[in-house]
Amino acid sequence: MYSSSKEKIKSEQLIDQYSRTISYLRLSITDRCNLRCLYCMPQRGADSSSLVKYADLLSYEELLRIVTIAVGMGMNKLRLTGGEPLVRNGIMDFIRSLAEVKGLEEIRLTTNGVLLHEKAAELYSAGIRNLNVSLDTMRPERFIKITGSDLFAQVWQGIQTACDLGFNVKLNVVAMKGINDDEFADFARLAAQRAVQVRFIEFMPIGNKESWDKTRFIAASELKEIIATLGTMDAGATSSGSRMEGPARVYRLTLPDGKTGRVGFISPISHHFCDKCNRLRLTSEGRLRACLLHDHETDLKTLLRQGGTDNDIQTAIQQTILAKPKGHTLQDDLAGSDQVNCHGQMSRIGG
Ligand code: SAM
Ligand code: SF4
Repeated sequence: MYSSSKEKIKSEQLIDQYSRTISYLRLSITDRCNLRCLYCMPQRGADSSSLVKYADLLSYEELLRIVTIAVGMGMNKLRLTGGEPLVRNGIMDFIRSLAEVKGLEEIRLTTNGVLLHEKAAELYSAGIRNLNVSLDTMRPERFIKITGSDLFAQVWQGIQTACDLGFNVKLNVVAMKGINDDEFADFARLAAQRAVQVRFIEFMPIGNKESWDKTRFIAASELKEIIATLGTMDAGATSSGSRMEGPARVYRLTLPDGKTGRVGFISPISHHFCDKCNRLRLTSEGRLRACLLHDHETDLKTLLRQGGTDNDIQTAIQQTILAKPKGHTLQDDLAGSDQVNCHGQMSRIGG
């Protein structure tokens, strides 16, 4: 009796004013990255002014404290992202300490895959089972154009190693007209040939205004039409039995030769999933953000460093949840503007 009423109090703290339960925390553990994807980070040279100063990055101790408090409130799922999380020294010890947080049911990781071959086994033994790997092309020359580095083979090797070790791997492909639209079919076939789910993500106008070009945008509905020409798409046959898996609408694609795979579409712009959003993000300099596409943030770092108690931090988390906006207006903005909608850098906020 006592524990169930305690559970109720915990979960009530996580309900926002639109009745969504916020159970999922995403941490940008660094804004540093070993790639410069054209849609995400400024090209090399602009670095020093746009990166968060080292002293302003949250330490692992600070991150662990925030996670422990958030999990104590009832949050149960965590994603490590960035920037590139695998470039931060000490990440394995950090993951091992997260794995000891009671009540934290799942720790996931998003990576560009550059260091995956090297670190996959250690990630697995630290307790990670679910990896999202970003890959927008399977052509080495094009990989250089998109990311600024000749590292396709290394990333590919990392993906294979992760699959061999038994990770559940999802490939994230940002869909860009005139850049990788001739590879969508190849990616979908890959999902049917290997044990990976491929998820196409709509290009978003975030942070890096030099790279935003609305003529490159492709709506998920258009992407789906392209993939549907390859075979049959069944919405009901997903492993969860549901069409939505987090923000992704997932289908089972069956090719004419009988091979099947899972293909997802993430459409933050054309089809908001805001009414189901269960996320909070912690930026690399310790600012809690209730929505990727709204610039409002709560400064937890200053609270921590000025001696805030666990109770103060819990209150700040709860207030951020209560301030979570109902949704975003990116679709309207996209139609009318060439401007980026949200001004934080994606790598700082955590994609
Ligand atoms: N470095 C890691 C990686 O690339 O997977 C993690 C951080 S990255 C910011 C997380 C995700 O955000 C990646 O899948 C990336 O493709 C996506 N992303 C970054 N900028 C984007 C944009 N402007 N539109 C859509 N997706 C974007
Ligand atoms: Fe780095 Fe990921 Fe951004 Fe690419 S998308 S620049 S890999 S943080």
